[in-house]
Amino acid sequence: MVTLIESEAPPARGYLAELHQHAGKAHIIGVTGSPGAGKSTLVTRVVRELRRRDHKVGVVAIDPTSPFSGGAILGDRIRMMELAGDPNVFIRSMASRGNLGGLAASTRDVVRAMDAAGYDPIIIETVGTGQAEVEVMRTAQTVLVVVAPGMGDDIQAIKAGILEIADIFVVSKMDKPGAEQTVAELAMLLSLSPARREAAWRIPIVKTSALKDEGIAQLVDAATNHYQFLVESGTLVQRAQRQVRNELRMLIVQAVMNALKSAVSEEEWDALVEGINSRERDPYTVAQELEARLGLRGE
Ligand code: GDP
Repeated sequence: MVTLIESEAPPARGYLAELHQHAGKAHIIGVTGSPGAGKSTLVTRVVRELRRRDHKVGVVAIDPTSPFSGGAILGDRIRMMELAGDPNVFIRSMASRGNLGGLAASTRDVVRAMDAAGYDPIIIETVGTGQAEVEVMRTAQTVLVVVAPGMGDDIQAIKAGILEIADIFVVSKMDKPGAEQTVAELAMLLSLSPARREAAWRIPIVKTSALKDEGIAQLVDAATNHYQFLVESGTLVQRAQRQVRNELRMLIVQAVMNALKSAVSEEEWDALVEGINSRERDPYTVAQELEARLGLRGE
């Protein structure tokens, strides 16, 4: 089923449309951070803790966009071994092929299928903190940003933009030297930063060691608290509305792009581009002509 959805085959739309009415119940948790930060290991522990609490858990692991992240694949393999065979854990790895919007859309579709099937929570794990990850993380309701000690440049990377989507910071590998220093730096960064998604939510820093199995229950509690906050503050509804708006827009843009693809051959497209490039034509007039052809404007 999930394979069918990912394939974007025509019947998938019909299934998804039906699934929509059964979805919307799960807590969707995003986990992001640099390659090697310890996300896969942490997510495995978190899943185990959630199973202990009798949750049926979905995991969507987005395969690396960057060439530096061999760790994710290894992590995935370890996880598969640890969690394999539990019918109440559904793990799905997804390649970050295609464009930005495409990845976000297919992630959303897979999450929708898991949600409708009763998995709750659903964890979306991405590597890195680039635009694609931020886009995918918008599907999540609670975003965990994982930072490992001794990766000094991580704190810099956080400044670059991840701060605005983080709901909970996790300092992983607390068993390593220098971990408390990382916690202190993060706390400093948070105290200096005015930019926050919801002012009333104080972003906690949760310390974990997957190695020693410490801090995992606290992390799950923090995520649950955040969900509670979203519900009680009305933010959950607002976010859902924002997502629906966004999704509708994306679906329409996608439909227009598809229509364009079938209306204009590769050769014609190249010729149009060439004509504009050589100044024989201009982009505005060409766009108008194409819009007319797609039925988007009267001649
Ligand atoms: P990811 O790329 O963020 O998914 O990171 P991984 O989960 O694959 O972990 C990267 C490396 O850090 C692996 O070698 C793990 O064994 C190690 N690691 C993960 N968690 C811990 C921890 O709590 N303590 C220590 N010392 N090492 C850890």
